[in-house]
Amino acid sequence: MPGPAYDLALANRILAREGVVDAYGHVSLRHPGQESRFLLSCSRSPELVTPQDIMEFDLAGEPADRADERQTYLERFIHSAVYESRGDVMAVVHSHSPAVLPFSITDAPLRPAIHTAGLIGARIPVWDIRTKFGDTDMLVRNMEQGRDMARNLGACSVILMRGHGCTVAAADLKEAVIAAIYLQLNAAVQLAACQLGKLRYLSDSETKLTAETNRLPAVKARMWDYYVKRADAGF
Ligand SMILES: [Zn+2]
Repeated sequence: MPGPAYDLALANRILAREGVVDAYGHVSLRHPGQESRFLLSCSRSPELVTPQDIMEFDLAGEPADRADERQTYLERFIHSAVYESRGDVMAVVHSHSPAVLPFSITDAPLRPAIHTAGLIGARIPVWDIRTKFGDTDMLVRNMEQGRDMARNLGACSVILMRGHGCTVAAADLKEAVIAAIYLQLNAAVQLAACQLGKLRYLSDSETKLTAETNRLPAVKARMWDYYVKRADAGF
C-alpha cells in the first residue's frame, strides 16, 4: 500500500541493491504530518525491510510507542540528532559505503567530481568521534554523540565519520537515496581517477547548478523509478 512506510521500505531495498548499505546502515524519513517524529525500520538489514517493519520515533531517538518492544537500531541517534538540529532535513541515510570509507581515514578530501553527484554539496566535513568522546566502539550510541555529529554536519548535505561511514541529509526521501548512491559513485570515480593523474573537480558553481538539475522533480522521478525497478522489492 503506497504511503510513507511503503516508500521508506523501498528506499531500504534500493540502498541495499546498490551496495550502499549491507547488513548495516539505515534510512529514515521525517514524519510527514508530525515534524517532531521520524520513521525508521526496526533493527533489520535494509535488504529485508518491509513496510510492516517501519516504526515511529521521537526526536530523542526513542520509539513513539513505548509499548513497541521490537529491537531498534543502536545508531538511531544519528537520525534524531540531525532532525533535531536541521528543520530543513526530511530524510537521512546512514551507511558504511565501502567506496566512501577511504576518504574518512585519510587527509584526501571527498569532493564532487561528476555531474550526477551535485547533491552531495561542495564541502564534505569529516567527523571524528574520538575528538570529543575518546576511545569508543565508533558507533553513535546516544544523543550527545549524535548532536556532536550533527553540529559538525552544520548546513552540509553529507558528513563522513572517521573509520565508520557517512551520513546524508536531504530535503526529501528520493533526494537522500539518490545523494547516497551518487556519493558512493563519486568516491569510486575519484579513487579510480587519482591513479591516472591530477583530478579536476566540479567548481562550487558547477556543484550548485548540477544539484539544481538533480533536484528537478522529473529527474528525481526518473532516477527513483529506475532504482525501484532494479530493487524488485516484491511487496
Ligand atoms: Zn554506522
